[in-house]
Amino acid sequence: MEDYQLLIDLHKNAYRQGPGGDTESKKALDLGMLDKSQPLKIADIGCGTGASTLLLGNLLDAQITAVDFLQDFLDILNTRAKNSGLAEKISTLCCSMENLPFEDEEYDVIWSEGAIYNMGFEKGVIDWNRYLKVGGLLVVSEITWISNSRPLEVQQYWEKEYPEIDVSSSKIKILEKNGYSPIGYFVLPEHCWLDNYYQPMQNNFQDFLMRNGNSEDARAIVEAENKEIELYKKYKNYYSYGVYIAKKLHLP
Ligand code: SAM
Repeated sequence: MEDYQLLIDLHKNAYRQGPGGDTESKKALDLGMLDKSQPLKIADIGCGTGASTLLLGNLLDAQITAVDFLQDFLDILNTRAKNSGLAEKISTLCCSMENLPFEDEEYDVIWSEGAIYNMGFEKGVIDWNRYLKVGGLLVVSEITWISNSRPLEVQQYWEKEYPEIDVSSSKIKILEKNGYSPIGYFVLPEHCWLDNYYQPMQNNFQDFLMRNGNSEDARAIVEAENKEIELYKKYKNYYSYGVYIAKKLHLP
């Protein structure tokens, strides 16, 4: 994965690789109203170094398969799971979220924070549906417009980065169209972006540049991240991650 080495280097020592928070993951779990009478089978897709995987492991009687296509992130997750006494509950799987080796109706819960955009929300919720038991829970966070209109600068930036960005009513419609019953939605608050994700990343920029000989590629990454952070600070009233909680009713 030569192309990813700089991104791995920038993100692997962070607690999380995208906006989110333990309190917010717990809130999503509570909204899901899971039946906890039996051990649960959970897939955490695009888990990174496992912020949500470890939280779920701590809170639930569950077997969790944590999936990411970067083995470096999974190695860190394995170490964290071992150090937290969660190794028995968590196994890791290095593969693409678009080509999962799961059985039909294998899982009680599919969880994915800040990752489904890599294959696109609609394709993701359609593809992953079959791995869920009927009545099983889907929890996904997805970048979302939180107002009906917005300044052109931010609209153009995000439509270029992620053409599927949309308002929550459109995302919920996609869930309804594809065999899910949406049961909860909320917006990640500012601290999930700034305190939990952007600030720790910014604190690491100088070391990152030094480790990588201040190379042009490393500088370009820092510049792009700084641009994204400035944009967030300027336009945070217009977009965030939405957290979508839905039950599977039937196949798409
Ligand atoms: N869920 C983690 C969190 O919230 O801290 C990580 C979020 S990070 C923004 C997205 C993750 O998806 C990264 O760990 C990345 O390696 C992973 N990823 C990207 N494309 C992927 C793919 N096609 N298949 C599997 N994982 C992928």
